[in-house]
Amino acid sequence: GAAKDDGAVPGRVRVAVRLRPRNTEELIADADFADCVELQPELKRLKLRKNNWDSDTYEFDEVLTEFASQKRVYEVVAKPVVESVLDGYNGTIMAYGQTGTGKTYTLGRLGEEDTADRGIMVRAMEDILAEVSLETDSVSVSYLQLYMESIQDLLDPANDNISIVEDPKTGDVSVPGASLVEIRHQESFVELLRLGEAHRFAANTKLNTESSRSHAILMVHVKRSLKGKDSTLSSDIGGNSHLVKTLKPPIVRKGKLVVVDLAGSERIDKSGSEGHTLEEAKSINLSLSALGKCINALAENSAHVPVRDSKLTRLLRDSFGGKT
Ligand code: ADP
Ligand code: MG
Repeated sequence: GAAKDDGAVPGRVRVAVRLRPRNTEELIADADFADCVELQPELKRLKLRKNNWDSDTYEFDEVLTEFASQKRVYEVVAKPVVESVLDGYNGTIMAYGQTGTGKTYTLGRLGEEDTADRGIMVRAMEDILAEVSLETDSVSVSYLQLYMESIQDLLDPANDNISIVEDPKTGDVSVPGASLVEIRHQESFVELLRLGEAHRFAANTKLNTESSRSHAILMVHVKRSLKGKDSTLSSDIGGNSHLVKTLKPPIVRKGKLVVVDLAGSERIDKSGSEGHTLEEAKSINLSLSALGKCINALAENSAHVPVRDSKLTRLLRDSFGGKT
């Protein structure tokens, strides 16, 4: 894909790791948990202790400790992506990890009791609304859940079998069956996230599953009209001089921000699962491994990104190449 050449977003794929603070249970079990992870933020490394003598070291683009604030996490991992989207690129932010590691906290926190808690979705919309002009630009969102290779509209629960449409010429992906809600104020966006979360809970109760077993996908479309310059020319027609005013059409710039709260990455023990749970596990493993293959292909600058293998990767197709 065409990376921005001013270097605002270096590389096609960037990976940050965030450690959340230990919860009460983990603090009580201190002896077992105390030193299992060591962060070296300056070196952008994480060490995972295997036993007392041995550890594995992993390198990241960013390492965020348990003391990193929501604001800092936003600024490090999301702000450059949001800025690219305002410039007319597609940008994607995904949270990956086991259930309970802080994906939803990082992405979806509304921060209504304490604004310092606001997560990436809320902060991204604040920055977008601050930048666009509501007279000439538009911001609209869809909010989807992907569960067992089927897509539900979190803004309209009756709409539970949405299909993905790909434009063969441009490669653009759309979900014409999904609600697309225009956002003019931050409050209405927060309200919409809350509504989506409530619908997600209700839908999953009906499906007899948990939110951690599905992917939640927020899509924010930003369409901006940058005014073309008007110019006045004088021309000579039939000996008479005329002033001809040409109105240049506005330049339209479209960007798309996709925020994905992925299903829990824990491996469900297939031998111990059966029926429904086994089908869920297969479906999650399928989509996460398909995503892994695409991300590896991008990271290796491979010309072929295998998007066909799952609905998740098909939905993210226009986030994997082109103006991304
Ligand atoms: P996930 O979505 O990955 O399953 P959650 O975001 O629901 O995990 O986080 C699990 C619990 O840990 C929640 O109670 C959440 O409030 C808490 N938590 C996660 N990250 C942090 C953090 N950085 N600071 C404080 N609490 C956190
Ligand atoms: Mg979650």
